[in-house]
Amino acid sequence: MLIGLSNNRICQPVAAKSAGQGSYNDDVVITNAIGTRGITKGPQVIIIQKALNNVPAEYGGPALPLDTDGVAGDFTIGCIKDFQKRHFGFQDGRIDVLGKTHAKLSSLQPAKIARMKMAKQYLGRALNAMQKAQVKLTLAGMELLTGGGLSGGQNLALADAHFDVLKSDDPAAALAYISSVYTTMLSSFDRPGGLGGWSQFEAEPFTNRDYFAFTWWGGHYQRGMYIGWLRMDTVYLSAYYDKANDNDRVQTIIHELAHFVGPAAGDLITDYAYGKRKDMAGLSPYKKQHNAECYGNFALSPAFD
Ligand SMILES: [Zn+2]
Repeated sequence: MLIGLSNNRICQPVAAKSAGQGSYNDDVVITNAIGTRGITKGPQVIIIQKALNNVPAEYGGPALPLDTDGVAGDFTIGCIKDFQKRHFGFQDGRIDVLGKTHAKLSSLQPAKIARMKMAKQYLGRALNAMQKAQVKLTLAGMELLTGGGLSGGQNLALADAHFDVLKSDDPAAALAYISSVYTTMLSSFDRPGGLGGWSQFEAEPFTNRDYFAFTWWGGHYQRGMYIGWLRMDTVYLSAYYDKANDNDRVQTIIHELAHFVGPAAGDLITDYAYGKRKDMAGLSPYKKQHNAECYGNFALSPAFD
């Protein structure tokens, strides 16, 4: 078991390593490479043909359904190439076990597409909450300068409650740092040269049942890079996301984006603690300011107070 969990909001790359194909009933399971210089006949070809047919045309599936005859001829291989071209730019007509094409195909099966469509509505709420968090932090900075000022100090008090701003060596710098994290999170929705906006979220291809989501530390800066089938500038949503409540679904998006835009090494924005504000009581100011959950909690206060 990993560090103390609240509703299984675990999200490190290690989560991916514990899943394998077949861990979820919507996974595409193959044991041999299919297509060019791979297997071209038999039951596993049928699995791939059915899986391709499940992919809507807008996501690179065939315009007309393939015959599920278990023979990977020109038409089936052409469909594999079209699918690859749509998602990767290359087209070798081959689906390697746990390769990029296999993973993408598995992540575009019906239950996973349904997860992404369901999740999409929570993205807007997350964006809204992050924008409000920035406003609160701007006001908190003014309150710090003016001893409360027109807004009475309530924003500074809230920022302090979640991030221990006033116990920090330099409260103004702490506020600026926290604000910069939200700024980068918001900017990740408009990234030239990488995935952006909704496309940086994907259903995990070989799903961990017990996790909400995971991503890479600093994935925002690893544009178009892969480790195996995992695209680093992607936030993967796992099966438990389906069961989460509304607040947890929004929190998950903000939480993952905090990891995503933090550094890839060094002062990571990591998981020192999960849960509501009271669960963070034992953390130092530094750890609160580098804890993904705190970014969600502050943005979604009072739901996570
Ligand atoms: Zn996390």
